[in-house]
Amino acid sequence: MKIKDQLTGEDYVDRVEIAGSIRRMKETVGDIDVLVTTPKPLEVMDFFTKMDMVDDVVVSGPTKSTVRLKETGMDVDIRTFDDKSFGSALMYFTGSKETNVELRKLAISIGYKLNEYGVFDGDELVAGTTEEEVFNSLGMDYIEPELRENTGEVQAAINRTLPKLVELGDVSGDLQMHTNWSDGKNNIEELAFKSQTMGYEYIAITDHSMSIQTSKARSERQIKKQMDEVDSVNRKMDGLTVLKGVEANIDSYGYLDVPDKILQEMDIVIAGIHSGFKQNKHELTRRIVAAASNEHVNIISHPTGREIHGRNGYELDFEKIFEAAKDNKTLLEINSRKNRLDLRDMHIKQAVENGVKLVINTDSHSINELVNMELGVGTARRGWAKKEDIINTLNLKDLLRYLKN
Ligand SMILES: [Zn+2]
Repeated sequence: MKIKDQLTGEDYVDRVEIAGSIRRMKETVGDIDVLVTTPKPLEVMDFFTKMDMVDDVVVSGPTKSTVRLKETGMDVDIRTFDDKSFGSALMYFTGSKETNVELRKLAISIGYKLNEYGVFDGDELVAGTTEEEVFNSLGMDYIEPELRENTGEVQAAINRTLPKLVELGDVSGDLQMHTNWSDGKNNIEELAFKSQTMGYEYIAITDHSMSIQTSKARSERQIKKQMDEVDSVNRKMDGLTVLKGVEANIDSYGYLDVPDKILQEMDIVIAGIHSGFKQNKHELTRRIVAAASNEHVNIISHPTGREIHGRNGYELDFEKIFEAAKDNKTLLEINSRKNRLDLRDMHIKQAVENGVKLVINTDSHSINELVNMELGVGTARRGWAKKEDIINTLNLKDLLRYLKN
């Protein structure tokens, strides 16, 4: 984040962290909270309120200021803290409020007091420098920020049964992206080279199939030509493998718009709903179950069809979908596009609890969108997903073996 980088660059800034819902990787963010330790708070406030990205200074004080940003109109609060309170302040301003309430209750139950300045035994400071120290002083494991939504994480931390969450560095490849063969901006080679710089071992090119009106139609002949192009890009690549794929449309009866003889030539087949959102829960569930049960289909993309700030996701009978996904080894996608993040956190948690395997894809339509993987991983973490729940953490060999089964 730019604000953090700029502040980190100043020599009178010791520690700086972004707290709040951004740190919890929440899908929508209200305002931004920045915490700083510094021997010179006035200089920090002066620098902060005069940064280029600042449109307006809302409040300016010695230990707290608020500015409004130019581009987004978002408010940013900055607060300075003593080093010995930085961990407890970070915890407090990271939230969620509900988790903080639970933690304060827990502190009281063992005879302590917890607030943004630390854990106190009477007047004596017990812990506060780091979050780890604060959690440990309360007799519990560290809770990753993405889990702090009061959905059972406090008790799990006390019981020391929190999952080890998947990390961005665990991801070995990205299995949904679109090229200029359909509605993407870049060609296969550009996507492959950019993906290689991200440390991936594989990607899948999964342009839309022919019936989708929003993209240039692809005939069977074009699909064959694109497969040849994938082969020729693979000959140029060293260390990254490009897989052949397609994102087929699931029609209103649950059939795909790509013939089987093409599907069976693909390394990876994604099926997604891109039209007919108005059907009822039963019909939409049946479409997805039918697609997930198709022997060629590996992934159901953006399963609920929701758009953040847009249409709500359609209602689905997740029990049936989870069952079909498990029975057929079909993966449910965590789509990393900013306006999708679909599956969302709570559905990911249910999927993980039900033993359903997932895949985190960016659904990139240009090389600039490949970095959105971070958002998908953040959402997976909010859904308590571990590395072993996410299939694109496998190496290429194991991935291909999984896809064949
Ligand atoms: Zn799609």
